[in-house]
Amino acid sequence: MLELLRRIVQEVNSAPNLQSSLDIMVSSVRAAMGTEVSSVYLLDEKTSRYVLMATEGLNAEAIGNVSLGITEGLVGQVGLREEPLNLDDASAHPKFHYLPETGEERYNSFLGVPIMHRRKILGVLVVQQQEKRRFDESEEAFLVTVSAQLSGVVAHAKAIGALDSLRGNKPGMVGVFNGVPGSPGVGIGKAVVIYPLAHLDSVPDRLCENPDTEIALLKEAVMTVRQSIVELDRKMANTLMPEERALFEVYLRMLDDHGLVGEIIDRIIAGNWAQGALREVIEEHVQSFQTMEDAYLRERMADVRDLGLRVLSQLQKKNAVTQPEYRENTILVGEDIPTSLLVEQPLDKIAGIAIVQGSSNAHMAIVARALGIPTVVGLAEMPVTSLDEAQLIVDGYQGRIYVNPSANMTAKYNDIIRDEKQFVAGLDAYKDKAALTPDGFPVQIMVNTGLMVDVARSKDRGAEGVGLYRSEIPFMMRERFPSEEEQRAIYRFQLESFSPRPVTMRTLDIGGDKDLPYFPIEEENPALGWRGIRVTLDHPEIFMVQLRAMLKASVGLENLRILFPMISSVVEIEEALHLMHRAIMEVEEELQQPLIKPLVGIMLEVPAAVIQVADMAQLVDFVSVGSNDLIQYILAVDRNNPRVADIYSAYHPSVLRTMSRIVREVHAVNRKVSICGEMAGDPGTAMLLMAMGFDTLSMSSSNLLRIKKMVCEMPMHRAKALLDRVLMVDSTAVIRSLVEYELEEAGLASLVRPLSKAVGHGTI
Ligand code: PEP
Ligand code: MG
Repeated sequence: MLELLRRIVQEVNSAPNLQSSLDIMVSSVRAAMGTEVSSVYLLDEKTSRYVLMATEGLNAEAIGNVSLGITEGLVGQVGLREEPLNLDDASAHPKFHYLPETGEERYNSFLGVPIMHRRKILGVLVVQQQEKRRFDESEEAFLVTVSAQLSGVVAHAKAIGALDSLRGNKPGMVGVFNGVPGSPGVGIGKAVVIYPLAHLDSVPDRLCENPDTEIALLKEAVMTVRQSIVELDRKMANTLMPEERALFEVYLRMLDDHGLVGEIIDRIIAGNWAQGALREVIEEHVQSFQTMEDAYLRERMADVRDLGLRVLSQLQKKNAVTQPEYRENTILVGEDIPTSLLVEQPLDKIAGIAIVQGSSNAHMAIVARALGIPTVVGLAEMPVTSLDEAQLIVDGYQGRIYVNPSANMTAKYNDIIRDEKQFVAGLDAYKDKAALTPDGFPVQIMVNTGLMVDVARSKDRGAEGVGLYRSEIPFMMRERFPSEEEQRAIYRFQLESFSPRPVTMRTLDIGGDKDLPYFPIEEENPALGWRGIRVTLDHPEIFMVQLRAMLKASVGLENLRILFPMISSVVEIEEALHLMHRAIMEVEEELQQPLIKPLVGIMLEVPAAVIQVADMAQLVDFVSVGSNDLIQYILAVDRNNPRVADIYSAYHPSVLRTMSRIVREVHAVNRKVSICGEMAGDPGTAMLLMAMGFDTLSMSSSNLLRIKKMVCEMPMHRAKALLDRVLMVDSTAVIRSLVEYELEEAGLASLVRPLSKAVGHGTI
């Protein structure tokens, strides 16, 4: 059974387009279940009708021409109830709707199951038979399993289908892909696909300008690979049996002009560049191996992949055009773009980012927000490899991208960009205002930094200091750990730029989704793994260098504060403090002068630290809530997983009650408490945090003026009254609407919905 399912999924998966996926689906289901009819109806969102898209058993002419309203017929009933419907006599059901074009009158029994993807109904999979009988339990379970397994493929194929119709230039059609908002704003421009080297699946299609050059590159790459195989074969002559060495022979044959190479050359002549042509050919072969019955032959798939990778790495070494040209208004597109890769891009040319992975609290999204680059993440259905050079709109408000949009859609979004510029210009009035509520309560607003641009941007927006300096960001821009002197210079620049205002430097916080290219941490479950202080305590040689560099950088300025990330026990604080005191002694000895000791704090990011906050706070000078991580641990929602991105919310009652409790408990032991997660930069949650009594709100530089505007316009007594009400509410959605309503009532609607004009959804 499992084997059968696996084959069906693979066959459907390897189909080149939506129609073929559906055709394969119905024929495999009919064959596997031995039924007379198998059909798929897909929901057309535009017309709200289920359209017969593929069938075996019903009249083929009905395909694409027959449809049912959303509540019509048995198909509508399955869609409405989102559960299987199993009938021995379909025509006796009150909802039965006869479709004469299909010729279905002969069939009595009916089993329909919904095709669901991320809570949305995509369509209905149906089998029918003449014999009057209920399908048995195992048949029903089989069809449900097939449908659940294939729903992702259908969703993806539907999306790709949209793109295919686009290529056919059907007027008025727009390719739309939905993801999760990563960084607000709208970007319009041409896509450049960023892909990791030596990763065959991610190589984009790219127009080949000079086929002869690409063919020459390919031949050279293949020759190098062939030579290395011959060399390996020679070396292994005394170690391997002749039959084991036969594999090398197979490899060499695959790589001759009549094998894979010939096929790749055909693709190059057809217009793809060598790397893209290689990917296409290898993908096709891998897919045909996947569907083979014979397990031994299926294993050969790995050989084809391996060969493909070898040729690819040679091509990437030789091919001078892997780094595309960046024009103004480039949209970066990729499977995933780690922060370390993002910060290396020519940022002034980037108008937007669209990636398949990630969620709005992923580190890369946070950095994109700090940079003010509109970003959509979690675009699970986006066909990355087909998008190079495509015209894109990135809607970072709604978490959506439009591929090759119509002139009308582009004009609408250009209006939004213009409105936005006006809104931002209006915020300039708050640059020089003190962050004081209308009823006279000061709120300390600080900035989160890490990138160079943050420094310039935050100083002229009135930040009262740095609440979080993410020290891992300069580490990401290098090819090795920076030396003590290099670090000292980097930190000195930060401290000097803000002096005399305080700068809170967080010690290296890597692990989780924050990787250093030269120190990869690969784990099954990185969020619960080796990260933050756990890494640096295990590597005192790295930690001590950093602490010494920070201490030296502050000499004469004395505005340094040190912050330890991901604390989960008292012992970790004690160990970190112990190392810090050692670093102070060492620097005093080296510089032959006493140091003024920096204030030291811990980040509250783990529930264990919240529960023990009173004990922990007394060991240090201050605490800072890292709400991005704390929320993920309170709600058990991976901040990087787009599938659960909807559940991740700072408005969750448990999150808000936890924040309020932290303030009370930290103040009770006479320590200061700040918050430096993204919650502090959202006008709605910032209003609640200010009412809770947080001493400092620290946020990305792009949010400083918005939050200042909120503080200057929202009386504290009103925010407190709202907080009292909110803390009694048990629903995230209700809390969010209460907060939005309050902001709107205070004339701050533009802070909640900067996107003033509704934009139509477009159609797939
Ligand atoms: C946080 O977790 O809230 C935080 C500020 O740290 P980071 O986002 O860098 O993990
Ligand atoms: Mg964190």
